[in-house]
Amino acid sequence: ARLANQIAAGEVVERPASVVKELVENSLDSGANRIQIDIERGGHKLIRIRDNGSGIDQHELVLALSRHATSKLKTLDDLECIASLGFRGEALASISSVSRLTLSSKPAAQETAWQAFAEGRDMAVQVQPTAHPDGTTVEVKDLFFNTPARRKFLRTEKTEFAHIEELVKRIALSRFDVAITLTHNGKVVRQFRPSLDGSNDVQRVAQVAGKAFLTEACHLQAGNEGLSLHGWLMPVGTSGTTQYTYVNGRMMRDKLILHAIRQAFEEVVGSIELPSFVLFVELDPRQVDVNVHPAKHEVRFHQARLVHDFIVQALKPAISSEVS
Ligand code: ADP
Ligand code: MG
Repeated sequence: ARLANQIAAGEVVERPASVVKELVENSLDSGANRIQIDIERGGHKLIRIRDNGSGIDQHELVLALSRHATSKLKTLDDLECIASLGFRGEALASISSVSRLTLSSKPAAQETAWQAFAEGRDMAVQVQPTAHPDGTTVEVKDLFFNTPARRKFLRTEKTEFAHIEELVKRIALSRFDVAITLTHNGKVVRQFRPSLDGSNDVQRVAQVAGKAFLTEACHLQAGNEGLSLHGWLMPVGTSGTTQYTYVNGRMMRDKLILHAIRQAFEEVVGSIELPSFVLFVELDPRQVDVNVHPAKHEVRFHQARLVHDFIVQALKPAISSEVS
């Protein structure tokens, strides 16, 4: 079974940033509103995610590390309308099969905290009491220590950390209400304070995408409850590096959405380089399949044409107001 985990890990765990993604998504799924991400040596040495979420029951710790154990899919109906970010029950099993993983947790209702340790393909998961506040900490050490071929593909500490930082920026814009801290080798690199009533959202966008967003970006809001688009875009002519899109709060790099954005710009100003933008598409979750791709960057809209054209039409007025 552990071998199967290692094979599955090939899909889930490509590099340190993919570990961070899975673990932070678990924290978000657990209802955490405070997440601390500590990285050492680009994640080669240590990836540690601490949250103040629901925690994991003492008796579920071992289960959480086994394959296809998920607490998130209860009925077939859920598949239609997945609200949680993870549901395959593969991440922890996969990650632990290629690292030394410690899972420490305490649900608020439980007296003591417990800790499970798993190392590589070794079947035995050790469980023992530990000290831990309400919530969960996952510590991943020595990623790929037992898969030399994979370890060889790890890039420099700097490059791997850059991937992590980029990911954390994307996540920060998917949940404005969650406090997120990212450290590297003991230094705070990113600190996002929660923006609870939405009034500081643009501050967080500026933290991610650059200060110019505060003064130059155009805010956009279109559509209705069934299908809407909101967010910010920089003026035309400033070629952008921050081109983030979200569908129902999940970060995406979806072809259809990017095509629609490009088309809107082309129709208003002709062929140009795209500026930076941060855009959120919201629609009825039954109108979209979010788990088409294992890395979950693509979606399938049931009414693709409608969504595409809506985005084009919603963006055009914002773009032309900038041009004029
Ligand atoms: P999935 O997220 O697809 O369910 P994972 O392997 O990522 O699968 O996690 C397995 C299970 O472990 C989850 O379903 C959840 O019950 C539990 N879990 C993992 N991380 C956390 C966390 N940070 N807080 C609470 N529960 C967690
Ligand atoms: Mg998960």
